[in-house]
Amino acid sequence: MYTIDLELFMQEKIALGNPVRLERNEGSGRMLRRRLLDWLTVRTVAVVDNLAHGLTGAVIGYCGFRQRGGSEAGRAALWTCIAAAEFPDIDVVLGFFGRDTFFRFHRSFTHSAVMLPVWAALIAWMFWELSGRKSFRLLWWAAVAGLASHLVLDWLTNYGTELFWPLSTARLALSWVFIVDVYVWAILLIGTVAAIWTQREWVAKTALGVLGAYFLFCGASRAHALDAYEAKGLTGRTDAFPQPMDPLHWTIVRDDGAAVHWVNGSRNDTFVAFHDENLLPKAEATEAVKLFRWFAAFPLVEKIEENGHTVLRYRDLRFRSTMPWGGVREGMFVIAKVVFDERGNVIAAGLASGED
Ligand SMILES: [Zn+2]
Repeated sequence: MYTIDLELFMQEKIALGNPVRLERNEGSGRMLRRRLLDWLTVRTVAVVDNLAHGLTGAVIGYCGFRQRGGSEAGRAALWTCIAAAEFPDIDVVLGFFGRDTFFRFHRSFTHSAVMLPVWAALIAWMFWELSGRKSFRLLWWAAVAGLASHLVLDWLTNYGTELFWPLSTARLALSWVFIVDVYVWAILLIGTVAAIWTQREWVAKTALGVLGAYFLFCGASRAHALDAYEAKGLTGRTDAFPQPMDPLHWTIVRDDGAAVHWVNGSRNDTFVAFHDENLLPKAEATEAVKLFRWFAAFPLVEKIEENGHTVLRYRDLRFRSTMPWGGVREGMFVIAKVVFDERGNVIAAGLASGED
């Protein structure tokens, strides 16, 4: 249970309220990165993320599935692979049932390795029926490969994926790659175009190999950053999180029990533990906060005033990131809020989306 260091919080407020203006002499590469990141919101990220999954499905589809089984079954296998690579995110329809339901179940049953054979059978059967009932085996394996690619890509990010649902509801995250990565995009685009152009299995497999090598590089870069930090002999639960557009740049978050430290290069922000005997236990007892704590990696509690009410706001420092031009994005796309009346009774609690 933590609250933000007041002085740092004020600095943050100022930094957030007055974004650094683009200078004319700012490098064009830097400007491009800035434009791209400005454009990224929760909604655009979802679209970009879906396209990346689809392209991965296409590249895998050309790793032998398209080429086998004759032209008709081969084409069906390619589309099975693409559909399977997209399929797990069908769970975004949970958003219709509210934010709580979405966060409880997004990246769970459709993203489970345990459930993968069931979904593969379903998708393969659909395409088998649509394509004149040929080569079910080929379609099945195409669906398995497509689904597996989605699970691996999601696991590589820091959002958390319930890979062993329903056996475990632990949210697994390698945190090797930022959710939108231009290098991944470049590899996938070039790989897809080259595979379609040549129709060669080895071309698609090479693209997949380059992608795998890039991911391993990111993993090694993260391990190196963590090793360098831990060499200082600091104690506590420590994790490193990827930053936009730079696989060599990591933020490190460390929870030593008394405070959470958020480290980015030479910058070290400390969020000291929040204590409150009256409000805090009431907030912790709400379903919203229980759900948020299950979801969050480094939860942080802040007491704020909003519309004349005292509010305990929970956010996750895992999503606090730096921007390439400096400054910090607070990563409050999902927060929990507990609102109190003047007598200190809970009048509302729920998940919300904070402003960034
Ligand atoms: Zn997903």
